[in-house]
Order: sequence, then structure tokens, then C-alpha cells
Amino acid sequence: MEIKVENVKYSYRGCKEEILKGIDMEIEEGKIVAIVGKSGSGKTTLLEMFNALRLPKSGQIQVGDFLISRENKHLDTEQLRFQVGLLSEFPEEQFFSLTVKEELSLPLRFYNYNEQKIEERIRNVLQMVELDESYLHKNPLTLSNGEKRKLALASILILNPSLLLLDEPTIGLDYENEKSLLKLLRLLKSRYKKTILIASHDTEFIHKIVDFVYVLKDGKIYLKGNKYEVFKEEEKLKKCGVKSPKIISFSNRVWKQKGIKIGYRDEINDLIKDIYRYVR
Ligand code: ADP
Repeated sequence: MEIKVENVKYSYRGCKEEILKGIDMEIEEGKIVAIVGKSGSGKTTLLEMFNALRLPKSGQIQVGDFLISRENKHLDTEQLRFQVGLLSEFPEEQFFSLTVKEELSLPLRFYNYNEQKIEERIRNVLQMVELDESYLHKNPLTLSNGEKRKLALASILILNPSLLLLDEPTIGLDYENEKSLLKLLRLLKSRYKKTILIASHDTEFIHKIVDFVYVLKDGKIYLKGNKYEVFKEEEKLKKCGVKSPKIISFSNRVWKQKGIKIGYRDEINDLIKDIYRYVR
């Protein structure tokens, strides 16, 4: 689903200072897009507007057919949230069922799915997040951190949303779980054609997966572009409290110091192969 953000401003009740001072964005369908910025830069605040958990103080967000703005009193939030799934920063804190099966059934029951469809969807999402069916009768609170995150993601995917909003999805994940998340996001994009919006400060992870990046600073979009255009701007990113991915900093340094253009690679192994080619 296509998304257009126009001049969105926001301040928290009782706070004079605007957290968002006029944000414009355009997100193409089927792309993975990141909102990057240091802690406190407003990423979560902005992300929560895409499913109308917060409304802009002024400006508007068009998400497919839904217009999110203060003025639109006819917004069908139930339908919007059916199509837009939000994975919050600490989703584990929101489990309230005694079994994994119940946790996954709840959203479907809310939208009146029948039992057969519920079973089918549950099997499907468990496979997507790589949890086997032995988990169905476990208590969500007894799962490991990585498993909890998988369950939280499964409970968002269960409704098959067109747009996925992920808030700091890598926080607390170990290397293996990060790898599975990467694989899942690639699958959601390529096979399921989802549009995915990720708020994160974790550029090491983000650069491996995103098509387009917006960098937030002082309530505004300070930089935007494809990941190569944005992440090579080390100095500008530094001003935003954001680090360039190591692999891109390395390529930049080799270019500046040795005049060798080795290009940009998502995976370190590919970069090493390129370097071998130059050395030979
Ligand atoms: P990020 O996700 O980039 O860390 P947030 O959107 O969470 O940033 O927060 C942006 C700013 O808004 C921060 O300065 C934060 O302290 C402030 N803020 C967040 N939530 C609230 C709230 N409920 N009330 C007042 N200020 C808030």
C-alpha cells in the first residue's frame, strides 16, 4: 500500500516543543523503508501515526485508502489496524494469553474468523517465524527472548497486514535471531509483497535490508535516499547521532585513502571477495 506523509507536526500534550516539525515522506508499495535517528529523535512517535495510535497535530498521512489527520473524523481505525500491523519496541510486555495458540487466535476472533481459518493462519505464521507446533500449548511468558519476539511478530502477521510497522525490531536479539529476522523480512517483501516501515538506530542491521532511508534530526527529515546515498554520508550521519554501517565506512576509507572504489556490499563476505579481486 502506498503511503504519503505531508507536513506532519506533533507535540506531546503539555510540552511546548514540537517533536516533529513538518515531516514529508513517500513510501512505495512493496518496499522496505527505514526511519533512522538517535534515541529521542521521534521515530516511535512518527511510526505510531501510521496506524493512528497517535494523530498528527497538523498535516496528514495517506495510507492506501485511509487518510489519517485530525480533521478526518470518519477514519475507520478498526479497518486501518486490520491492514497495518505495529510491532512495538517491547511487544513481549503485551502478551495476555496463557498459551501461544490463544495469543495468536485472539486477533482473528476479534475479526470473526472461523475455527478452520484460525487453525490455518496459525500454522502459516508459525512456519513464517520458524516456531514449530510444539509451541502452541506453551505459556508465552516462559519463552526465550528471541522466541517471544517471534511470537509477537507472528501475532501481527496473523491478520496478514499489507503494511508492517516495526519499532526497533533488533533490540535484545542475538546473532541467530537477528539472522532469522533478516530472512523473514526478505521473505515478507519478496513473496508476500508487504510494505515494511522500520524505526531503528541499528544501522548495521538496517543497511542489509532497506531500500530507502529517512534520517530524523531535530524533528525534521535531515537526509533521505537509497541506503548507499544515505549511509556513505558519515559526517552528516554523525551530526544526527547515527553511525554509518562499518562495511560502508570501510569502503569509504579505501576510496579516500587508496583511491580504490570497491563499491558497497550488504554482506562482509562479498566485500572480502571484492578485495581479493583487487589484490590479485
Ligand atoms: P525515539 O523513538 O526516536 O527514541 P520517541 O518518539 O520515543 O523517540 O520520543 C521523541 C521525544 O518525545 C523524546 O524526547 C521523548 O522524551 C518524548 N516523548 C515520548 N513519549 C512522550 C510522552 N508520552 N509524553 C511526553 N514526551 C514524550
